[in-house]
Amino acid sequence: MLGFDSHCHLHFHHFDSDLTTVIDDSRKAGISHILIPSVDVNTAEVSADIAERYNLFSAAAFHPEHLPEKSTEEVEWTSIKQVLLRPNTVAVGETGLDFHHETFKPEEQLRWFQRHIELAEATGYSLIVHSRGAEAEVLQHLPESLSVPVILHCWGGDETQTDTAVSRGFYIGVDGPLTYKKNNRLRELIQGIPRNRLLVETDSPFLPPEPFRGRRNEPSYTRFITMKIRELWNNNLSIERVSFTLWENAMRAYRLHPENRRADIVYKYGDSLYVNLTSRCQNNCSFCIRRSADGISSYYLKHSEDPAENLVLSTIDAAPMKEFKELVFCGFGEPTLRSDLLMKSARCASARGVETRLNTNGLCTSFMSDEKVVELLNCFHKVSISLNASGAREYNRICPSTVVDPWDHLMKFIKLAKGTGVNIQVSVVNHSGADIPRVKALAARLQIPLRIR
Ligand code: SF4
Repeated sequence: MLGFDSHCHLHFHHFDSDLTTVIDDSRKAGISHILIPSVDVNTAEVSADIAERYNLFSAAAFHPEHLPEKSTEEVEWTSIKQVLLRPNTVAVGETGLDFHHETFKPEEQLRWFQRHIELAEATGYSLIVHSRGAEAEVLQHLPESLSVPVILHCWGGDETQTDTAVSRGFYIGVDGPLTYKKNNRLRELIQGIPRNRLLVETDSPFLPPEPFRGRRNEPSYTRFITMKIRELWNNNLSIERVSFTLWENAMRAYRLHPENRRADIVYKYGDSLYVNLTSRCQNNCSFCIRRSADGISSYYLKHSEDPAENLVLSTIDAAPMKEFKELVFCGFGEPTLRSDLLMKSARCASARGVETRLNTNGLCTSFMSDEKVVELLNCFHKVSISLNASGAREYNRICPSTVVDPWDHLMKFIKLAKGTGVNIQVSVVNHSGADIPRVKALAARLQIPLRIR
């Protein structure tokens, strides 16, 4: 059975002693997916750890009741951005406004809500919004045209506000109180929400549904809220059918569904930050990871189409680049296929004092003039060129290409690269069928350092 607890605080101490059992129990109860939001830097890191350990998903943000101190806010904001770069972290959240507790002044909460909205928009992450006593203000401050899904978690708005939220395409999260005897108002409200906009969430360890009120809430109790939703929708539907619909909604809300899956544009590898501009490539190398996987090290990197230029630039701009040794343009395809964007991105990074490296198959001379290739090369501090073979015939065997005479283009690219004075190296994959001693001899003749991968 597929089921999604779309908001579950497994990072809180309430689960310290039996986290594995809680997750096992939820799986037995048909909850295949869980999203763990966070409230500050520490909980964001814990949520990301749990998500990676148990193959779940997490989110990172400052909750409106857990905003950072003024003196450390920029350092902490950078830390939140660092967590967002982790492979199973898929959303900004939970952020929002809480005028019920008002631990922080409304202006301060609004300032941070705005920052989170901008970060989600810049990077393409879904946005999880908390609102308590501030539903009207939340709707007012969410921009009319947002490019990312918005999840109104544990929604408490009235009918008019809910209609507005739904008409703007927001997802509505519903929790345990739906099962409470006296909560007819919430049940009526939920009945009026289109089925494809509703998410089920436990908000564990809080808000347990009937019959568990007064106890710690757990993700396995999602089933009891789902059963109440089934009652409201149609008792003839199977629980599996209702759970699947709610699962699909959450998959879309968090951009995990094949229909709208978000591929990472930037990702961490070692102490470098990598940029993934495209999933296209002229080659189909025998060892290419794209043949067997959709990504690297738990990152999903397979773009269904090239990400928009402004999204790439804003994602790079929002990344905490200073925290990394270098910015590497590599990804899950050939970056020079987007040469203009590649040059623009590399120049932006260099202007911020960041070292840049290009990893390329060296075939761009097949579609770019020599002058343009030299201009491109000069945008980088280092260039790593996939040599992969000791000659044309070997190259064609290991790296079948749509480019005519790819070896000739590769040799031409290497010659142009040597002429620029940019720091270059060539590479070959071990055990790929390449004649390594001959590749070594070729690299020596070319007088370029060789890296055997
Ligand atoms: S050049 Fe790189 S991305 Fe393209 S097929 Fe070969 S290994 Fe894969």
